[in-house]
Amino acid sequence: MITLEQVNAASTSQAAQLLDGLYEHSPWIAQQALAQRPFDSVAQLKHAMARVVAEAGRDKQLELIRAHPELAGKAMVSKTLTAESTNEQGKAGLADCTPEEFAKIQRLNADYNVKFGHPFILAVRGPRGTGLSRHEIIDTFERRLANPADFELAESLRNIHRIVELRLNDKFGLVPALGNLVWDWQEALAEFSDPGYAEKRQLTVTYLTDAHRSAAARIMQNMRDCGFDEVTLDAVGNVVGKYRGNGNKWLLTGSHYDTVRNGGKYDGRLGIFTPMACVRELAAQQRRLPFGIEVVAFAEEEGQRYKATFLGSGALLGEFNPAWLEQKDADGVTMREAMQHAGLPATLEAISALKRNPAGYLGFVEVHIEQGPVLNEIDLPLGIVTSINGGVRYQCEAVGMASHAGTTPMNRRRDAAAAVAELALYIEQRAAQDGDSVGTIGMLQVPGGSINVVPGRCLFSLDLRAPNNAQRDALTADVMAALESICARRGIRATTELTMKAAAAPSAPPWQARWEGAVAALGVPVYRMPSGAGHDAMKLHEVMPQAMLFVRGQNSGISHNPLESSTSDDIQLAVQAFMNLLDGLDREHQ
Ligand SMILES: [Zn+2]
Repeated sequence: MITLEQVNAASTSQAAQLLDGLYEHSPWIAQQALAQRPFDSVAQLKHAMARVVAEAGRDKQLELIRAHPELAGKAMVSKTLTAESTNEQGKAGLADCTPEEFAKIQRLNADYNVKFGHPFILAVRGPRGTGLSRHEIIDTFERRLANPADFELAESLRNIHRIVELRLNDKFGLVPALGNLVWDWQEALAEFSDPGYAEKRQLTVTYLTDAHRSAAARIMQNMRDCGFDEVTLDAVGNVVGKYRGNGNKWLLTGSHYDTVRNGGKYDGRLGIFTPMACVRELAAQQRRLPFGIEVVAFAEEEGQRYKATFLGSGALLGEFNPAWLEQKDADGVTMREAMQHAGLPATLEAISALKRNPAGYLGFVEVHIEQGPVLNEIDLPLGIVTSINGGVRYQCEAVGMASHAGTTPMNRRRDAAAAVAELALYIEQRAAQDGDSVGTIGMLQVPGGSINVVPGRCLFSLDLRAPNNAQRDALTADVMAALESICARRGIRATTELTMKAAAAPSAPPWQARWEGAVAALGVPVYRMPSGAGHDAMKLHEVMPQAMLFVRGQNSGISHNPLESSTSDDIQLAVQAFMNLLDGLDREHQ
């Protein structure tokens, strides 16, 4: 075991010796990074080495990749792997492959080599460091074989950095205990999934289903175990955990626990569990801050079962559309019935009582997985959000005329689906014009359609977003005008119903600065970025100052997808950053 102090104090050659074996057969990387000593943290050392690789140029990068052994390859069989690789491939159980698995991996190795000209690199110890299953390894291998070459080169380097991260943990005797705790909470919570998805081992938790209620119950139990003073389920299904402070004010934090269909385990939930891990630390130390911490696990953010996006966080603002109670889900169950079934009061009085007095709060902070590729691409674990893009969502219907697909001539059709298709293509080019606007028709349905009937009716959704309100409104106006003219030309009648309108939400400068300080104190470079996705913080933004922290996602940051992932090392840094934020607030309030 070595320490950072040793690395900082040693001569260059001694220090290089201490860091030997990190990058497979490539000691030059650690050697060059050592020029940047002293390092304040292992995170800083990691980033310094990743920068050396990033700046080394393509030839050196390929050389580094080619220095790695094939997965379950000849070197493993002949036992000529480095000690580090033997340990990693062994942990992943690659030595115990069935003959079929072994043959499959050999085929994949060969195909991969032909396509990319270098071996397939995967951090087989995985996001928790405990080893991927052989099944996961083979799936990943097959998926990555389809990637373009440039992407795969970058992905190989990212996997190498992850391998190094785990080797560093071993060298320094570091265990990301809080990151592991949060990671395990996330895995355990992902066991609950709605019927139809649970069977396929897909994660879907929509508002007030049985899986949703089980998830709430699990979060409540976790909060009690952490040592929160008060844990309640509120009238809309939010889980509220309070850890009292010595003063009257509260820091509000949290995120959502509902998911999209077949979504990821981290979206929303990371922002619940990260502050919970901090409260657990505080409670274990019997430490009270000059302010209380209120962690809210929001019941509804994604707007999946009902058109009621941000229902959970909106309720804290006293915003609840009474008409929502009568709204039916796809099975005809009203929200009122769903609430009653969940044992909630389902009355407007109880819901309006959830409104918070902003004067009682210091502000709102939210930790969230990035849901994009940026942090992954620049080898940074954390990012500080500068602003959340504004957006609008509509549920729409286009009505034309259903008619015989064989007998209706093309020039006499009133095809509702074709009209929406035309709109989708318009949105594609109109949003691209802005550079940073985005527009999506994510739902497109021909209810009761048949193969031999011209679509008479089409249900579709609209999702339009931009970094500021004016740009969002201009985009929306153009899309609506296009819908009108397309429909007029095609003899279609369209209706649009606004289901969400969220203003762009720039971070409150003092709170953004607190996150920056919290991240800088970890020795991690401060990186500022806007949020393309909407978050609960957008809602709280309307009544109190807010700022968000992003955590890098694996698999190029993919989200709203089961491949969404984060490492327990990155989560550890997020917990530490949150702890730093709390410590900083503590000092400010002394
Ligand atoms: Zn989310």
